[in-house]
Amino acid sequence: MSTPALPEASRLLAELIAGCFPDARGRFGPFGGRYVPETLIPALERLERGVREHLHEPDFQAQLTEQLTSWVGRPTALTFAARLSARWGAKLWLKREDLAHTGAHKINNAIGQALLAQRLGARRIVAETGAGQHGVASAAACARLGLPCTVYMGSIDMERQAPNVGRMRLLGAEVVPVTSGDRTLRAAIDEALRAWVSDPRATYYLLGSVVGPHPYPYLVRELQSVIGREARAQMLAATGALPDAVIACVGGGSNSMGAFHAFIADAAVEMIGVEAGGRGAGLGENAATLAFGRPGVLHGAYSMLLQNEDGQIRETHSVSAGLDYPGVGPEHALLAAIGRVHYQTAGDAEALAAVRALSECEGILPALESAHALAGAECWARANPGRSMLVCLSGRGDKDMSTLQQTLLGPQPS
Ligand SMILES: *Cc1c(COP(=O)(O)O)cnc(C)c1O
Repeated sequence: MSTPALPEASRLLAELIAGCFPDARGRFGPFGGRYVPETLIPALERLERGVREHLHEPDFQAQLTEQLTSWVGRPTALTFAARLSARWGAKLWLKREDLAHTGAHKINNAIGQALLAQRLGARRIVAETGAGQHGVASAAACARLGLPCTVYMGSIDMERQAPNVGRMRLLGAEVVPVTSGDRTLRAAIDEALRAWVSDPRATYYLLGSVVGPHPYPYLVRELQSVIGREARAQMLAATGALPDAVIACVGGGSNSMGAFHAFIADAAVEMIGVEAGGRGAGLGENAATLAFGRPGVLHGAYSMLLQNEDGQIRETHSVSAGLDYPGVGPEHALLAAIGRVHYQTAGDAEALAAVRALSECEGILPALESAHALAGAECWARANPGRSMLVCLSGRGDKDMSTLQQTLLGPQPS
């Protein structure tokens, strides 16, 4: 099932390009908003005021740029993948978020929000994490700024992602196991929200993707849009032209929104989001929210989500833990509905093949999440010979070694 096209798509696209979204109610067309318990509204309103007051203020931006340059390692490189381009038949450029500190784009958001929290007078940070990557980025950013950090993590995820639990603890964060609900990311989000509500003035909730209630989808997009801003300038400098396509993987949707945002107004630039197709199209077999989901409310926002006929959230599956989420950011739901971005899926097997291809041809071991974008890029390349594509390489694959051992390298003798 694909997202129904909105009748007013061209008007919504014009408004999107004009920067009208989110609107005053925190909506991206029909999507987004603030579907939360009454107790959370004052905290969200305070955060919204804080974002409006500080985020684009020159002094804050200077402080953020200083951290991004001296600590995160920005600007990240733009790499031409010569051997893979020759194999696939189209020119492949990689935006190297795998080279950012802690190994992925998530740090752009974590350091930005931690700086904002400091400005707003927060004395401690709470965050949630599923696969652990956002927890590690948050712990690192908090250590850098001297802010105490508590990360809520489902007890099942803590077992599955033990190395990241160790990293967070070494970085000084307290990792709190969540044993309620599904004992994974969804329950961890509920716990983090509870901690925030119980002490909203001293606590800052550092959310990890372009999801959740307003203003988070906007705030995270603004912090991640450095990816596309840099890449656009780097492409122009390297080739004198914009890419014909920008391709990124979509979990919650932050690296892709960050990559797409600077190109939204460039009508000639095709944009493609690649979701986790998992093992197939059946319910519970994938995490492809825009491909197979329906509209509904999850984690405080109205967006697309994977649910059954009764509106129960579906378990998701992907070989990549970072894409294994039943929802997607509301701005993506709008971009899909108006057709500005095309969303497709890449399955587990295709992602694993892409890991091998990039590793062997370019000497870069990509994260399994990023490998989905590469699998989408191969499809696009075969259909568009000679043209150029920019792929957001959202992270590095070192974190995925145990999965890669069991799949690409075969089971290890025990
Ligand atoms: C977390 C993660 C993702 C998925 O999150 P988005 O918010 O969709 O970007 C993608 N790639 C990597 C490397 C990640 O760690």
